[in-house]
Amino acid sequence: MDENVSLKEHSNYRIGGPAKFFVRADDAGSLWAAVAFAKERRVPYFVLGGGTNVLVSDDGFDGVVIKPAIQFLETNDMMVRVGAGVFMSELLEFVAGRGLSGLEWAGGLPGTVGGAVRGNAGAFGGETKDAVKEIISVDVSGTAPKVIRRRGAQCAFGYRNSIFKINNGKEIILEATFELRKGDAKVIRETIEQKIQYRNERHPTEYPNIGSIFKNVPVADVPKELHGAFAHVIKTDPFPVVPTAYLISEAGLRGTRIGGAMVSEKHPNFIVNAGSARADEVKLLIGQVKSAVRKKYGIALEEEVLYL
Ligand SMILES: Cc1cc2nc3c(=O)[nH]c(=O)nc-3n(C[C@H](O)[C@H](O)[C@H](O)COP(=O)(O)OP(=O)(O)OC[C@H]3O[C@@H](n4cnc5c(N)ncnc54)[C@H](O)[C@@H]3O)c2cc1C
Repeated sequence: MDENVSLKEHSNYRIGGPAKFFVRADDAGSLWAAVAFAKERRVPYFVLGGGTNVLVSDDGFDGVVIKPAIQFLETNDMMVRVGAGVFMSELLEFVAGRGLSGLEWAGGLPGTVGGAVRGNAGAFGGETKDAVKEIISVDVSGTAPKVIRRRGAQCAFGYRNSIFKINNGKEIILEATFELRKGDAKVIRETIEQKIQYRNERHPTEYPNIGSIFKNVPVADVPKELHGAFAHVIKTDPFPVVPTAYLISEAGLRGTRIGGAMVSEKHPNFIVNAGSARADEVKLLIGQVKSAVRKKYGIALEEEVLYL
């Protein structure tokens, strides 16, 4: 267990103060020990994966940050078992090399398997849930740890949602089993590469960022009288949505800056750290974007990113 660890180094945003306690845990027992330590001291705990979807407060976190470092990868025919701490990029490399198809949509998706399962991460019409056979987690909410196995259908997966998100910190994901199909290794690699290239061209990867700040807006939530005006931008992801980047751009906010936080010119649903941004500046800018879009369209944007 380390103390006063800067969370800047553990966030893709390079923003945030220190964690009072920081621990890497590589199995259910050590995860439970870290949670028990937090409970004993009556301080909160937070599970941090790759830090690619979290805005860490400038004041840091006055509790225990727990990093699940569960790092195995194994196959049994079409099944791939993977530890929650494995990066999605490593998983893709592993399955592509074995000619296993079904996760190509995740080419270039940053973060860990645990983070992807918890948020049912998705892109290019695919979602994490599509190939999930089983998830094993540990329930740490009681006086003793309880390991839970769930089939994909029991995980309450929805748009950027799952039972693990709904239970909010009660469970820590230990591992996932994905059921894939036999495919052509060369085609799988090429498809993954295309996604990575698409992201590199469109995402502001030249600046530290945490991906899209807001969820896209389901067409079902858009006032009827606006459907015609948005018809040319509606996309399926995985159901019909109006891209939030379009709404932000139309509200005239591209390039808007508060301190070091800036609405990306390249992809306006990203707020980038354009230089020593503070979390407070990002939060102010998020508020400004929300009120501008609400004023112009009457649409309430909802954050996809998390606050710590
Ligand atoms: C450039 C860029 C592009 C992105 N593109 C996409 C995209 O196309 N689609 C998309 O869906 N997302 C995208 N994201 C957002 C992000 O990458 C995903 O949400 C990712 O799945 C988060 O994983 P992580 O390990 O970084 O999680 P973190 O950011 O560390 O944590 C996110 C949440 O998951 C929880 N968590 C992490 N691990 C576990 C675990 N083992 N058990 C329980 N809870 C856990 C954390 O407590 C936290 O609540 C993008 C981000 C960036 C920076």
